[in-house]
Amino acid sequence: MVLVDHVRCTYCGSCVSVCPMGALELAETRLIVDQSCVDCGLCLNACPTGALYAGTFPGAETGGPGLPLRRHYDVIVVGAGPGGSVAAWEAARRGLSVLLLEKRQEIGSPVRCADGGAHEQLISFIAPDPRWISATVTRAQFTVLGDDGLTHTTGGGGGLGYVLERRVFDRTLAEEAASAGAEVRVKTAATALVLDDGLVRGVRVRGPGGETDVECQVVIGADGVEARVGAWAGLDTTLRQRDTMSCAQFLLAGIDVDPACTCYYIGMSVAPGGYAWVFPKGDGRANVGLGVQADVAERPALDYLVRFVESQPHLAQGSPVTLVTGGVPVAPPPSRMVTDGLMLVGDAARQVDPLTGGGIVNAMAAGRLAAEVAAECIAAGDVSAAALSAYETRWLAGWGRRLARRYRLKERFPPPARASRECMRVFTVAVGGK
Ligand code: FAD
Repeated sequence: MVLVDHVRCTYCGSCVSVCPMGALELAETRLIVDQSCVDCGLCLNACPTGALYAGTFPGAETGGPGLPLRRHYDVIVVGAGPGGSVAAWEAARRGLSVLLLEKRQEIGSPVRCADGGAHEQLISFIAPDPRWISATVTRAQFTVLGDDGLTHTTGGGGGLGYVLERRVFDRTLAEEAASAGAEVRVKTAATALVLDDGLVRGVRVRGPGGETDVECQVVIGADGVEARVGAWAGLDTTLRQRDTMSCAQFLLAGIDVDPACTCYYIGMSVAPGGYAWVFPKGDGRANVGLGVQADVAERPALDYLVRFVESQPHLAQGSPVTLVTGGVPVAPPPSRMVTDGLMLVGDAARQVDPLTGGGIVNAMAAGRLAAEVAAECIAAGDVSAAALSAYETRWLAGWGRRLARRYRLKERFPPPARASRECMRVFTVAVGGK
């Protein structure tokens, strides 16, 4: 039976089209070969990445993970989300040699986001560009759905904001990093840290051609909510259920929504411990999603989402053209974000706003700060935890302090109290409404 190298396989379906037995099936991001395969080998030549083998699987190949890599970089950034790409961009801009690794084959895809971002915050990183903006919003509306079935809607002005096109936005940031001199690799994952006497000295990199160790002075872990890099370094990145929002979202097409207004729906019945959102995407489309607090939800987020859409006639008339799912860390700051030769940024360092779940710009701010500190420490010849902790100190003095305050507010309002008038006031300010 034909064997599949899942590191190389890019799930394109070319092999499926030539199989005379119907033995191959593309199950979204998994190629399945069933028992009817007769080893005819026709699929092998049709595969553009050499991911299929007849007979025995050769195992881990030698020869490096695809495009050539240097043996050593100043900085290796793991993860090309907004946090990682800005870190790579800033480090390269400061003259450091940088490798930016992304395990997915396309940066920014699949999207795990509702795409909301404030103009004021984004412009300190990148000039707004219609290529990655789906809609410009100027209003916000808040609806409290009571258990008694009563609803109460408030709202009006809001800060200028955007509903982004994250696929394009994330890729644009990685392109900026590449333009500044960083080497970017897709479908290339970090699988472990290279340690020397307990100190981080590099990253084990696995790509389409195999696995290799690459050395560096500083690793920046920007691997998102999964946060494996920090765990490999011995930092505690495990989330408690109560600090996790489990989210599901449809991109609904064919609906009639205000194209300049973001809408929020709060109530234990609609999204226990969290909220639902409708973010317009232009052309009769909107991101319609919700997040539920993992320890209080009685059903999966997707069930709540289906029920919410069905309950809103203006949404129920639409069709879902995309399903997005994901977890959001709404947690207190971790006790450590650095260790010898390593820093964490973005979701990996739990730098999300605990009240809103927003984390794009926070991750970008952390990425920039981490690169700044990495450059200073490399120039001074000291990348120890003590030296790199300048990143923690500066973060905690600014963004970190605000996020810690927001976490305390979240804790002050247990899930049933989140629809209270007082909590709604806090939430309205947090999402930029007036
Ligand atoms: P990510 O964007 O998650 O990027 C991490 C990257 O690392 C990924 O590309 C991943 O593939 C890669 N990676 C992971 N492991 C490895 C590895 N071992 N090797 C190589 N690459 C690796 N925030 C907002 O501001 N506004 C919103 O409207 C909003 N809505 C959201 C809605 C949902 C449903 C969800 C789930 C999140 C939402 N967020 C929102 C949060 C926001 O998406 C994140 O905070 C933000 O993406 C964090 O950026 P990051 O760079 O830290 O991580």
